[in-house]
Amino acid sequence: MTPNWFAGRTAILATMHRKEEAIAPLLQSAFELEVIVPGEFNSDQFGTFTRDVKRPADQLATARLKALHAMEQLGADLAIASEGSFGPHPLIPYVPLNRELVLLVDRQHDLEIAGYAATPDTNFSHKQVDRLDAALDFARSVGFPSHGLVIMPAAEGSDPAEIHKGITQEDALRAIVADTLQRHGRAHLETDMRAMMNPTRMKAIALATQDLIRKLRKTCPQCNTPGFEMGDRQPGLPCELCHSPTDLTLAALYRCAKCGFSQTVRYPDGPEFADPAQCAYCNP
Ligand SMILES: [Zn+2]
Ligand SMILES: [Zn+2]
Repeated sequence: MTPNWFAGRTAILATMHRKEEAIAPLLQSAFELEVIVPGEFNSDQFGTFTRDVKRPADQLATARLKALHAMEQLGADLAIASEGSFGPHPLIPYVPLNRELVLLVDRQHDLEIAGYAATPDTNFSHKQVDRLDAALDFARSVGFPSHGLVIMPAAEGSDPAEIHKGITQEDALRAIVADTLQRHGRAHLETDMRAMMNPTRMKAIALATQDLIRKLRKTCPQCNTPGFEMGDRQPGLPCELCHSPTDLTLAALYRCAKCGFSQTVRYPDGPEFADPAQCAYCNP
């Protein structure tokens, strides 16, 4: 039986974008862990979205800062922080990719575990328009009004007073675009990627939370610490038909961050053979 290190405890979630809606119910039902959001926390001080692609390492460092800051502020020993990034898919041209990270930091047990999700299911997009109907077409194509928009005169260098975030009403969209077009002759529209403005992103945050829960449930065989994580994967799972090695994982190295115990696990994904559709010989 896995020990539950989190039952009855309270974790601070450092967010001002209602991410608790995705994260809190999952952790509550998995570990009886209560997640609360501090009233005063300003997560925007740790940076807001740009169109740059952030590497996961940067996301991790930012999430860690948020978690530590929240614990410091509230004298807590358990915190959750979440970070997302949006950019081009590394393998598929013209497809955007949303990466989400949900980090748990437990100072009582000196434990830090991150859950990840990467999904092309995102409305991440932007468009420059010079007519109102083009703005309305773009809005419809990105899930407006259930998904919010940001409107500004230009992609770069807009006066902060002319950047309108969180637009979810068609009246407001029409008025702001018309006004921006009148002043500047063009308008730049972006999908608002803040969690509370973007139900699709909220789903990706839930996926990363589920990954975190999976990792927390896997404990080290030697010291029982949660988060016995899969590290390096070794390809070569044999094809079911011809038994040649495929690119699928044959074995993975699990390592405990706490005591350093490591273990090579064969067939970490379950099946002992690969579908011939994945085989370079059977299905070239
Ligand atoms: Zn261990
Ligand atoms: Zn084969």
